[in-house]
Amino acid sequence: MIGLIQQNIFLVIVIVALIIAIAAYVINKNEKESEETVVREFYGLGTIIRLRVDGKNREKAIQEAMDRLNIIENKMSVFKEFSEVSMINKNAGVSNQAVSTDTYFVINKAVEYSRLSEGTFDPTIRPIVSLWRIGSDNPRIPSKSEITSNLKLVNYEDIILDEKSHSIGLKHTKQAIDIGGIAKGYAADEVKKVFENNRIKSALIDLGGNIYALGTKPDKTLWKVGIQNPVDTRGEHIGVISVENKSVVTSGNYERYFTKEGKIYHHIIDPKTGYPSESEVISSTIISDHSIDGDGLSTGVYIMGLEKSIKLIESLKGIDAIFITKNKEVYATSGIKNNFKITNTEFNYKDSL
Ligand code: ADP
Ligand code: MG
Repeated sequence: MIGLIQQNIFLVIVIVALIIAIAAYVINKNEKESEETVVREFYGLGTIIRLRVDGKNREKAIQEAMDRLNIIENKMSVFKEFSEVSMINKNAGVSNQAVSTDTYFVINKAVEYSRLSEGTFDPTIRPIVSLWRIGSDNPRIPSKSEITSNLKLVNYEDIILDEKSHSIGLKHTKQAIDIGGIAKGYAADEVKKVFENNRIKSALIDLGGNIYALGTKPDKTLWKVGIQNPVDTRGEHIGVISVENKSVVTSGNYERYFTKEGKIYHHIIDPKTGYPSESEVISSTIISDHSIDGDGLSTGVYIMGLEKSIKLIESLKGIDAIFITKNKEVYATSGIKNNFKITNTEFNYKDSL
């Protein structure tokens, strides 16, 4: 009898010791993982860039990513006088400009998304964007006649892509390209490549709200990406989506805007009118494998209107969307519904139109 009790006590001691050992191991491992995570924030591509990287090669990977982002900005920014895009614009109506593989790829994609979105996305919008100066220190409302005359210059079909000579041109003088609506998506894809080459398994790439979630979180759970509240943007979310290896890109009227006489003028311009888009959509999020697709589409569908946009996204394989309308209704396409949760009760989920 005594022997049996002793045996049981012994067993309990062994089990308790085992539990303590496992707990210590798990805590230690988690600490090691968090030590391996680094978050780096810096300015680039006209926005705040935030890289959260986990893994052994994280410092090298971040350095290489920053170099890559620099190269992309130098080639594609309209604010750099001698970028490839600026050179295309300077030679508009005169000659084609030989460009790098990067720039050719992005402009080619931009034209593809212009077609898909029936011209609501249009990278030749530059002459209109520069009239408004939105995002600069001195934005303004252009006159009707300025808009009418510059609107004639907007037409993505006037982009000349010559694959043989790897050069790009514009048919008419004064036309100009602006790939601000798609370049960040490409940049996010390129950062992801850099990370993968460095065997990074877990990272969150955030280029001013243009997000790519690489792998899962270090603890193997899904990344949770917040969908910003377009009405109240003090870091508030209306809901979260859970993803791994996905790009999440949002176009919203709150990104860059100015107010005059109580009216908001934002930076997403409807190429048909030359004025900021006034569709019922005030936030469009695209969930996709490639961020360039997400970026190109999110700008286009923002302008297109809800019904057409839902149809378009449902027709594209592997691409999903979440839309928020002026009256706080939220729509999600079929592939993301189950991974999306509204956390703000002011917003109402609508299952269909
Ligand atoms: P953000 O730059 O805030 O992420 P978007 O990806 O939606 O937002 O891109 C908006 C930018 O794209 C604008 O700042 C402007 O440079 C350009 N743009 C504005 N309207 C259009 C349009 N209809 N088609 C293509 N590009 C646009
Ligand atoms: Mg975009």
